[in-house]
Amino acid sequence: MSQYNPKSLKAEEFISHEEILETLRYAEENKHNIPLIDSLLKKARPVKTANGVHCAGLTHREASVLLACDIPEKVEEMYRLAEEIKLAFYGNRIVMFAPLYLSNYCVNGCVYCPYHYKNKHIARKKLTQEEVKQEVIALQDMGHKRLAIEAGEDPVNNPIEYILECIKTIYSIQHKNGAIRRVNVNIAATTVENYRKLKEAGIGTYILFQETYHKESYLELHPTGPKHDYAYHTEAMDRAMEGGIDDVGLGVLFGLEGYQYEFAGLLMHAEHLEAVHGVGPHTISVPRIKRADDIDPDVFDNGIPNEIFEKIIACIRIAVPYTGMIISTRESEEVRGRALELGISQISGASRTSVGGYTEEERPHDSEQFDVSDQRTLDEVVNWLMKKGFIPSFCTACYREGRTGDRFMSLCKNGQILNCCHPNALMTLSEYLVDYASEDTKKVGFELIERELKKIPAEKVCKIATENIEQIKNSNRRDFRF
Ligand code: SF4
Repeated sequence: MSQYNPKSLKAEEFISHEEILETLRYAEENKHNIPLIDSLLKKARPVKTANGVHCAGLTHREASVLLACDIPEKVEEMYRLAEEIKLAFYGNRIVMFAPLYLSNYCVNGCVYCPYHYKNKHIARKKLTQEEVKQEVIALQDMGHKRLAIEAGEDPVNNPIEYILECIKTIYSIQHKNGAIRRVNVNIAATTVENYRKLKEAGIGTYILFQETYHKESYLELHPTGPKHDYAYHTEAMDRAMEGGIDDVGLGVLFGLEGYQYEFAGLLMHAEHLEAVHGVGPHTISVPRIKRADDIDPDVFDNGIPNEIFEKIIACIRIAVPYTGMIISTRESEEVRGRALELGISQISGASRTSVGGYTEEERPHDSEQFDVSDQRTLDEVVNWLMKKGFIPSFCTACYREGRTGDRFMSLCKNGQILNCCHPNALMTLSEYLVDYASEDTKKVGFELIERELKKIPAEKVCKIATENIEQIKNSNRRDFRF
C-alpha cells in the first residue's frame, strides 16, 4: 500500500489510490451534511482584498463533497458560485484556439482512440512542412492566433525533431495581417531533454491528458505501447516542469472510469504540481469520450450525462479558481453554452480533428480522432459568444511578455489579470473583426466593444488600448502581436 504524499515525485504516492477511495467514502458520507457544504461554499467564495480579489479554492476532499451533493438548492448555489469565481478572475473573456493535427501515426494501443495501432482501416497521414504551412494559412484566414498541435506517439514517424520542425514552420508563417502567436503542444509523455527542446522552441502550454487516474483501468485501456507505463505517463508534468515548461495543461477523458474517482485524481494532480513546483496547472480540459472510427462510446459504461458534466465543471472551477478551463468542439453548442456560464475560459472554434482537415473542401472523416459536435465556423462561434455577452479573445500577450507559470498565477491570484487581459481582449477582438469577420459579426462586435470600454473605470482603461482599437477600426492595420 503506498502512502499518500502530494510532494512525492512518485505517481502512486501523489495519486494514491487509497486516498482517492477514502475521499470518495468521505464525500458519500457527507453529501447531505448541509453545515459542511455551507462552510465549503463560504470558504470558496471570492473575497475582496487590498490587492484585488482572493479565492481560497478547495482541497480534493472538500470539492468531492460538493460533487457528491445532490441537494438541488445546494447544486444551484454551486453553479452561482462557479460563475461568480469565473467572473472575478477571468471576466467575460473567452480565449479562442484551434487544434492542428500533424500526424495520426501511433504505436500505442489505447482502446478508446481510433489512432490505436491495430486500427487498419483508418487512413494514416502525416503532414509535410508544406502541408503544415497550408493548414496554418487556412487557420489564419479564419482568424486564429493560437493553436494546439496534436500528434500520435510514434518515434519513427513523429520523432521530437518532426514536432520541433513543425513548430518552427508554424511560427515562421506571416500571412496577410496574421500570425500564429502561441503554439500549445499536446504530444505523448516524453523525456526532460525533449521537454527542454519544446521549451526552447517557444511553446505555450504543454498539454497531456491523463485519460484515467485509476491505475488498474489505465493498464487495461492502454494494453500495449509506451503509454502502458502508468508512472511514466502520470509523472510527465513533473518532467515537463523540470525541462523548463511553466504552463502545463491537465485533463481526463470522462467516461473511461467513475467520474468521482477521476475528479479527485485530477485535483490531487493539481495539488501535487502546486506542492512541488509552486504553481498549479495552467489549464484543465474536460473532454468526454466520443464516437469515432472503430470506437463505440457505448461500450464504455462510465458515460456521464449533461447534468453531471455541468456539476463537474462547476466544482473544478470552485476548487481551482485560477486555472483556465477548456472545452472543445466534442461538445454541442448547447452544452458549450451552459459550460461557459459555469467556469470555462477557453474554447476551440471551427475545429477539424483530422490530419489535413483544414485544407480539404469537404469535412473529412477518414483520419478523424473524434466526431465534432459543434460544426460552426469561427465567425459563427464568435458571433454567438458576443451575443451571449462574452468577449472572444485572441490575445497571447501573457505568453509573449513572459507572464507564464507562477508569474501568471500571482497576477491572477490578485485578480489583476482582468486589468491587462480585458483591454488586450478588446484589442485582439477588434483585429479579428476588421480582418476576418462577416458584416453582421463586425457590427455586433464593435457595439460590444463600445459597451465594454464604457464599463471599465477610466483609470483602468489603458489609453493605448483605446487608441489602438481606434486605429484598428480605421483599418490602419499592422500586426500588433498582443
Ligand atoms: S490516444 Fe494518443 S497515444 Fe493513444 S492511440 Fe490515440 S493518438 Fe495514440
